[in-house]
Amino acid sequence: MRKNSEYTADWSWHDANGYDRIVNVSGTMTALGGSITTERVATATAAAMPRFARIHEMQARASEVIARLTGSEAGFLTASASAGITLAVAGAITGMDPARAEALPAHSGPRNAVAVQMGHLCEYGASISQAIALAGAETRIVGQATLVKDYQLEAALDDSCAAALYVVSHHVVDYGMLPFDTFVRIAHAKGVPVIVDAASEYDLKGFLAKGADIVIYSGHKFLGGPTSGIVAGRKDLVRATYLQNIGIGRGMKIGKESIAGTIAAMEQWMERDHDAIRAAETHALEMWQAALTDLPGITPIRVPDPTDNPLERLQIWIDPAKAGASAAQFAEILGRSDPPLIVRGHKIEKDYFQLDPCNLMEGQAELVRDILVQVLSDASAAAEVDIRSALAAARNGGTQAYLNWLA
Ligand SMILES: *Cc1c(COP(=O)(O)O)cnc(C)c1O
Repeated sequence: MRKNSEYTADWSWHDANGYDRIVNVSGTMTALGGSITTERVATATAAAMPRFARIHEMQARASEVIARLTGSEAGFLTASASAGITLAVAGAITGMDPARAEALPAHSGPRNAVAVQMGHLCEYGASISQAIALAGAETRIVGQATLVKDYQLEAALDDSCAAALYVVSHHVVDYGMLPFDTFVRIAHAKGVPVIVDAASEYDLKGFLAKGADIVIYSGHKFLGGPTSGIVAGRKDLVRATYLQNIGIGRGMKIGKESIAGTIAAMEQWMERDHDAIRAAETHALEMWQAALTDLPGITPIRVPDPTDNPLERLQIWIDPAKAGASAAQFAEILGRSDPPLIVRGHKIEKDYFQLDPCNLMEGQAELVRDILVQVLSDASAAAEVDIRSALAAARNGGTQAYLNWLA
């Protein structure tokens, strides 16, 4: 639970500017601003603004903190994890040749393929294939969506392959893919570096320890920093990736304020009381589960995160026949409540949504419970929601919001 009197006090910048007091139990979502920062991180971000600083010096400082955080040789910060993927691919293609960096993405040369298992080609608000393509690279798809075999990866890693990309995420197919150790062993036997997209993972050391050459994390997901991406790994590849700032990385640059804020977020992560935060999250889940257990057609169960993140969520199964409305209809009404309660609904067509406690502010656990009980115990409003448009909104809503903007 975040102690942040500044944001829970009577006066708030959000109120003053007419923004809703959104209660986010959906997780770290870009469309809601990623995560919220503590006062410590907000202060560091703001403090960097009114003076000049040498960006390379700040990045060198970030590199030291990233090294402590991840066990890497070196690292740097960029605009986002998505930018980190594009830049790491570009770095693997160009090495330390600035002329080649400037030639991207139009002229990436003959060694420009990136091998990715088919079940890892995910969408996180944008497609990972496009993040690869932005570097001028070709995505070499390995295997099928549900099964990848060792020899298929071996065959894909020919002389035209600059890197192999491994994605760790709840977004990817969670069976039939090559285990990480196998993937690394095969890639290294062929002399191909392994880039890991671990944008949303708590495990900040494991992938490098197990042989990854570059690992990418989001600074603004569970780390609670300003919008940023962390690139960590082998020094030569980190340098080649950083070099891309003279080229395609220009539009992905990070500013002094976000470097300062992300350094503070990384330091905070190394010092924070993880057990106490976990206990507070568990307390919220137990409170919600107890409050919903007796409602007709509602079955709340605690589920672990699908990757190895030490995080549980409350999965609310809805039986529409007994509850009076479907999960998608209830989610829509929760989002229209005052304050809006945004639930995690990317599998809403399966008639459940989840509650993620990782972004709760002080006092919000009780508020979430009260809104849930109110909405889920009276289906009259939810039953009015057009179910097909609610399902379509869950699927296409992200894109639709861009189309609707300033319409
Ligand atoms: C969120 C996410 C990204 C994108 O991260 P940003 O920092 O928002 O660009 C990439 N890959 C995975 C697996 C993610 O979960």
